[in-house]
Amino acid sequence: MSGEVLIELTDVGKTYRNGSLEVAALRHANLRIDTGEYVAIMGPSGSGKSTLMHVLGCLDVATSGNYRLAGSDVGSLSEDELANIRNRRIGFVFQQFNLLASLSAWRNVELPLCYAGVPKAERRERALAALERVGLAARSDHRPGQLSGGQQQRVAIARALVTEPSLILADEPTGNLDSASTTDVLGLLAELHAAGRTIVLITHETDVAEAAARVVRILDGEIYSDSANDPAGVR
Ligand code: ADP
Ligand code: MG
Repeated sequence: MSGEVLIELTDVGKTYRNGSLEVAALRHANLRIDTGEYVAIMGPSGSGKSTLMHVLGCLDVATSGNYRLAGSDVGSLSEDELANIRNRRIGFVFQQFNLLASLSAWRNVELPLCYAGVPKAERRERALAALERVGLAARSDHRPGQLSGGQQQRVAIARALVTEPSLILADEPTGNLDSASTTDVLGLLAELHAAGRTIVLITHETDVAEAAARVVRILDGEIYSDSANDPAGVR
């Protein structure tokens, strides 16, 4: 599996249109990511990182170019097929955690399995196993509001991995966390990578990007550098 092409963007663009206003958030993006890689995408605020993640995660469709994910031409897929890919292949982690406040930790974690039609007893079992994996088995009945930011992000990571996705997309996952929780979250991502997952980590922080083996840099919607991670930060 390792070394096979997982993600292939060819000359991909994404333009947002609001009335007469157009924003070219992504321009002529060429990017190949192989199965098993750990890639950081770095750039300042507004550079197009989240736009790129939305395209990679099939949450949004490119306006030009071609995107192949695991061999499928994403642009030719129906809404149902896209939803299916998102649910089965991709685990998402967001800066704001995006947990449902009224649900306990394990209920949040089981949600992707509900969408996938997994039977109830199995859902609970798998949700609890995922929480165990992120060190939160003892908090499974707590609601998000009863957990720290770092714990909430670990719940969100459990939710991302409960479907056993091959690809984890994390958009500024440590952006709202203190340094101890940042270390925890990066440790979990490293474990998932060691277990064979492909990780794409979006960040604007150099020290967070150092967790990855490869850094792709983006500015004004353009990928301008793509290199093996250099701890000295030389471009
Ligand atoms: P980043 O995640 O690096 O901060 P984004 O991908 O969110 O950057 O945004 C890139 C550019 O696209 C910005 O100029 C932003 O204002 C614009 N943008 C993002 N989402 C939308 C949208 N839904 N409608 C219009 N413009 C958008
Ligand atoms: Mg963003």
